[in-house]
Amino acid sequence: MANRYKRILVKLSGEALLGSTDFGIDPQVLKRIAGEVLEIQKSGVQVACVIGGGNIFRGSGLAKAGLDRVTGDHMGMLATVINSLALSDALEQMGIATRVMSAIEMHQVAEPYIRRRAIRHLEKGRIAIFAAGTSNPYFSTDTAATLRALEIKAEVIAKATRVDGVYDKDPLKFPDAVMFREITYLDVLAKGLGVMDATSIAMCRDNKLPILVFNLNTTGNIMRMSMGEPIGTVIH
Ligand code: UDP
Repeated sequence: MANRYKRILVKLSGEALLGSTDFGIDPQVLKRIAGEVLEIQKSGVQVACVIGGGNIFRGSGLAKAGLDRVTGDHMGMLATVINSLALSDALEQMGIATRVMSAIEMHQVAEPYIRRRAIRHLEKGRIAIFAAGTSNPYFSTDTAATLRALEIKAEVIAKATRVDGVYDKDPLKFPDAVMFREITYLDVLAKGLGVMDATSIAMCRDNKLPILVFNLNTTGNIMRMSMGEPIGTVIH
């Protein structure tokens, strides 16, 4: 079966790495996620990843606890570097070349993000992992994912979540929540659906970049999605 896409950007949340732990990374979960990402890559799709930092630090949470917001956001961005390194390691242990490219320069740890070099890595079959968000405070890794997806000309953002797609209300709290098969950017914004932050949705809308929202906990879902099977929700 042929892939529907040539190049996709997979957005993983840091929280997905928690598994059964309260903080940090569950190695079993990391391995499973890496395995899923690898499956798509093996099927011939160029794959770039952005992973969040919510399993370690979020600037907004730190600010609530009394830290300066900008410092908190810097800590959040550094948390995404930790997760990116972990994902890179898990993928490389499975035999695939990866490159972590950081928006904040830290040469000893990761390559700096350079767009043309990122595209070259993808063309050579490496998985590029974009770390440290946008390098700016007050943004999220959803926005970083959108920015990078546009820069590298990915055809789609695959947004991994803990539920099957976009619902009219939180399905983890409301059993009668209804899932949308497809929804417009405008409806996501107007209904205040929290699937991705408003900045990233608006950026996708302005640049006509579709978002596929799918459940990461269902094995094989990323692969089915990359084949164009109608799983989850399409925001377009
Ligand atoms: N962050 C930031 N600028 C960016 C991207 C991320 O300041 O461009 C910070 C922000 O504090 C955020 C944290 O990094 O809360 C971790 O990212 P995010 O909350 O998006 O992670 P996720 O929810 O996907 O795990």
